Amino acid sequence: MTQRTFLDQSWRGSLGPVLSIDAAILEAIVAHARRDHPDEACGVVAAPAGREGPQRHIPMENAERSSTFYRFDSMEQLRVWREMDDRDEEPVVIYHSHTATEPYPSRTDVNLAGEPGAHYLLVSTRDPGPAEVRSFRIVDGVVTEEPVRVVNAIVDPVAVQSYMFGQSPTTVDYECRA
Ligand SMILES: [Zn+2]
Repeated sequence: MTQRTFLDQSWRGSLGPVLSIDAAILEAIVAHARRDHPDEACGVVAAPAGREGPQRHIPMENAERSSTFYRFDSMEQLRVWREMDDRDEEPVVIYHSHTATEPYPSRTDVNLAGEPGAHYLLVSTRDPGPAEVRSFRIVDGVVTEEPVRVVNAIVDPVAVQSYMFGQSPTTVDYECRA
């Protein structure tokens, strides 16, 4: 029996109806969204398929370079998905930003959602202050919101606290190593 680390335990939870995301990765996603504003930003978080392991943030190009729409560049998507295959990873989180509206999937987002096993993370950069972060499952056109759980917040607890989650505070479960 190998002993599980804190990260492993928290990561296992991400396979349930809660998104567990590493604070450093969430921070990198929000930074990407801010950087690309006023265009929408997009990317994925990869992690080992069906087992515990570290999350890997992969910022991607928005081929549309649009403030109202995103689409992965097809060549880049092929390369990234192939690389995940090679590493025995899967796209656990697929994220993009909304730059003027709430972080809720649009009709187009729902129609294009092709990974029923993924957490669809949306970040809104409409407010220059706190970033709004919400996470959803999108299966067969049905959108279900899920709580976001930030783990390893020791990286920068202040930054994490500056996010505004869609869920009520009672359903957001912060866990700090400190
Ligand atoms: Zn969208």
